[in-house]
Order: sequence, then C-alpha cells, then structure tokens
Amino acid sequence: MTQTVAIIGAGIAGLAAGCYGQMNGYRTQIFELHDKPGGLCTLWKRKGYTFG
Ligand SMILES: Cc1cc2nc3c(=O)[nH]c(=O)nc-3n(C[C@H](O)[C@H](O)[C@H](O)COP(=O)(O)OP(=O)(O)OC[C@H]3O[C@@H](n4cnc5c(N)ncnc54)[C@H](O)[C@@H]3O)c2cc1C
Repeated sequence: MTQTVAIIGAGIAGLAAGCYGQMNGYRTQIFELHDKPGGLCTLWKRKGYTFG
C-alpha cells in the first residue's frame, strides 16, 4: 500500500515537499490555511498597491 505524507502549508517548502514526495513514490496531501497556495511567494493587490 502506498503511504501518504500529510504536509501542512502550501508555501514553496510545502509545494516542494509535495513534489519530491511524489517523485519518491509517496502520495502527498497538502493542507493550506488560505485560499491560495504560495505563502510568502504570493502577490496580492490592495487599494491600488501591489504587495509581493
Ligand atoms: C517581499 C519578499 C521578497 C522575498 N524575496 C526573496 C528572494 O529574492 N529570494 C529568496 O530566496 N527568498 C525571498 N523571500 C523569502 C521567501 O519568499 C520565503 O523564505 C519563502 O517563501 C518561505 O517559504 P515557506 O514555504 O518556508 O513558508 P511560507 O511561504 O510562509 O509558507 C507557509 C504556508 O503555510 C501556511 N500555513 C501556516 N500555518 C498553517 C496551518 N496551521 N495550517 C495550514 N496552513 C498553514 C501559510 O498560509 C503559508 O501558505 C522573500 C520574501 C518576501 C516576503
């Protein structure tokens, strides 16, 4: 049976862990608090300003 790795957070570290887990034969499931992946590598706009 294939083992599943649970990963907390879809920042760049969590996304990389998901990729490398699958490349090494594991199923991976990433749990993210927010509605978008990327963590600190995400751009967002507010009141005409772009943050990133
Ligand atoms: C403006 C800016 C510029 C930068 N420029 C560079 C650069 O030029 N070069 C460079 O190497 N680095 C740069 N960095 C740093 C780099 O972006 C971060 O070090 C990197 O993105 C951190 O990734 P991470 O996955 O470790 O953490 P994070 O990006 O913080 O991801 C953590 C994720 O976990 C989620 N999370 C937290 N708690 C929970 C929970 N309880 N349940 C579920 N999800 C949870 C968060 O929502 C988040 O999505 C920059 C950072 C900033 C802010």
